[in-house]
Parts: sequence; structure tokens; C-alpha cells
Amino acid sequence: MTKLTLEQMYTAISHDEFDDRHYGAIQIPIYQNSLFAFDTYPQFEHAFEQELGSHIYSRGNNPTVEFLEGKLALLEGADAARCFASGMAAISAAIFSSVKAGDHIVCVSNAYGPARHVMGEYLKRFGVETTFVEGSRHEAVQAAVRPNTKLIYLESPSSQMFELIDLEACAKLAKGIGARTIIDNTWATPIFQNPLEFGIDLVVHSITKYISGHSDALGGVVMGANELMKPLSRDEYMLFGGIMTAHTAALVLRGLRTLPVRMERCQASGLKVASWLETSPFVERVYHPGLPSHPQHDLAKKQLKGYSSLFSFESKQPIERLKAWASKLKLFKIAVSWGGYESLVTVGRNTSVSGEVKSVVRIYVGLESPDDLIRDMQDTWQEVTATSSVDRV
Ligand SMILES: *Cc1c(COP(=O)(O)O)cnc(C)c1O
Repeated sequence: MTKLTLEQMYTAISHDEFDDRHYGAIQIPIYQNSLFAFDTYPQFEHAFEQELGSHIYSRGNNPTVEFLEGKLALLEGADAARCFASGMAAISAAIFSSVKAGDHIVCVSNAYGPARHVMGEYLKRFGVETTFVEGSRHEAVQAAVRPNTKLIYLESPSSQMFELIDLEACAKLAKGIGARTIIDNTWATPIFQNPLEFGIDLVVHSITKYISGHSDALGGVVMGANELMKPLSRDEYMLFGGIMTAHTAALVLRGLRTLPVRMERCQASGLKVASWLETSPFVERVYHPGLPSHPQHDLAKKQLKGYSSLFSFESKQPIERLKAWASKLKLFKIAVSWGGYESLVTVGRNTSVSGEVKSVVRIYVGLESPDDLIRDMQDTWQEVTATSSVDRV
């Protein structure tokens, strides 16, 4: 496994090894075919002997998808990567490849909702039990471990309240008890965090977010060492069949070429908007791991090489007023997901472990001018408070 610096990542993303099968085509072609044909029977049989490295059928290997997998593995510092039809297909494959009946999972309580549902509800029918813990407290993770714990499932930073997990401590704990660790690294992307460096076993990403980056494709990826990726390729990849198509891989590759540029821009704009929000009267508290006010900022500096532009803030304002504000914003659309070129906002409630309910606004800062975004937020807030019948700020 090689660790790349940010500058090395720029070159790795933009430079391809010349492949003489492609007539000098600068971008890898879209291999739009389900099957691969052979001239002779011995060649056909030889391909099956090394099925994982051969091109036989596109549910197993497709050159366009394979090319994207190679690039992603390089960025994450992994031996191998497999791309799936969505982030959830990748997450489910990684989980299913890690547990069997009678096993126990420890999962952080702020992990992506559908992933929590797979472990907490769906897997019950296969005799797998899951305990949810507050991941930001390592003692809580330690306390939840049982003799049959086979998987510790992490997401750091989390994508609502942006809590961090001590990756090195969790990897050590898991290794000590013979359990595996999986992390959802979607927030940071391979540009800003490489969890394998801290001893995490498998990294998953929703490619739908920053990696594809243009709100026009769904995808997911699982990455890790060959010894874990080989059985996952053979079983959860090929048997479940939730693979990425060549067309999607080409779209993702187009987005990937600019990933570091977009991440650097998103980091700067996100920090600018988040810092401004800290000074705003309608904001109680901003949750952004890159701000010194974040309770785990020191851990963030240790684990992350940079910060993406999805964060949230808590407000004491009535939730209806926050929704009215979000509805009037001109440069932010109300929508789920994130990681594209366009800024987004959602308003919701977050219940803490202690049962306290807070109004939380999640902001995704896209590629617009951060000054325009700030002006939009400020002007709209003034408009909402001026027309509101509730107390003014
Ligand atoms: C969106 C998302 C997923 C799921 O990805 P899909 O591509 O929508 O299946 C998983 N984890 C996180 C953190 C996400 O934001």
C-alpha cells in the first residue's frame, strides 16, 4: 500500500498508463458489452481458472469499471477496490462479507440511516445481533464488545452532527479481539482521509457524493487488502450482482478527474461559510470538524488531511422559521444528498443520546462563490425575521 500526498494524487488522477488496446484514446472507452468472447477452448478455460483477473462477463469484470477501481484503490492506498451500483450496495456487500449467523456487530449510532437499518433490523433474520454505541466515546465502543463481536462498523466524521471516531484506537481494539472494522469514508473522500493507514480493514464510499461530484450518478465502492477483497469479489460482488455499469464508471471517471480541485475549493468555501455562521445571531452552534470550536478538533487534525464542505448548525429558532428561511434561500436548494456542484440545505431535528432534541440545519456548500452564499443566507434571514410574527432576533 502506498500513501500518496495531495500533489501525488493530482498526478495519479490525471495521468493514465497508455493502453495500446485503445488506439490512443485519451479517456478509457466505455466497454458496452455483457460478455467477452474467446478464440479457443483452452483460452476460455484458462480465463475461468483465474476468474477474478479475467474478462468473461461484465458482472465479474468490465474494463471501464476496472479502470475506475484501479484509480480509487491507488488514492485510498488499498490493494483493491470494487465498484457497486450505489453506496448502499457497497455497504451491504462489505457487511455481509464480514459476518455470519451467531455473530455480533458494534455499530456507531450516528452511521448512515439505511446502513444502520441493515445491521440493526435486516440482519436479525440471519441471527446477527447489533449494538449501537456513541462512537465519539471510545469507552462506549470498548464496553459494547462481546466475545462474538466480529465487526465494528464506523463512520467518521458522521454526516449529520459530524462526530469523529478515534480510528487508530478502534482498529487496535478490533484486532485484539479478532474482529473486522469497516468505515464509511464518504464525507472525507480518499483525498482527505485514508483510514487504512490507521489499521481499518475495509473502506466504503458512496461514490454518488463527492467522488462523482455532479449529482448525475449513483455508485459505491469497497476497498481494502487483497485477502479481504478476493472473497468479497467472488461472493458479495458477483453473487449479489449489484455492480456498477460501464456507463456509470465513465461518468464517475469524468468527475474523479477534478476531485482534488473540487475538494480544495469545497474545503476553503465550507470553512468560510461555517466561520461566518459562527458569528451569526440565528446560529447557536456550528458542527464542523475543521473549526477550532469543534470538540474533537485535535483528533480531526490527526486523522484528516482536509475538510469537506458538509456541516451543520444548531439553532434555538423555531423549526418552522428555519424552514421558512430555507425555502426563501436563492442559492441553496432543499434536497437530500450532497457532494455535487450545487449548494443544498435541509432542516431537521436531532435527538442526542441524553434525549435532548435540537433543531439542526445541514448545509452543503457547493462550488458557488462563498461570499454570494453568505449574502444569500444573511439577506434571507433578515427577510424572514422582518415578516415573521414570532419574536425578532
Ligand atoms: C449517501 C450516503 C450513503 C449511501 O450511498 P448511496 O449511493 O445513496 O447508496 C452512505 N453513506 C453516507 C455517509 C452517505 O451520505
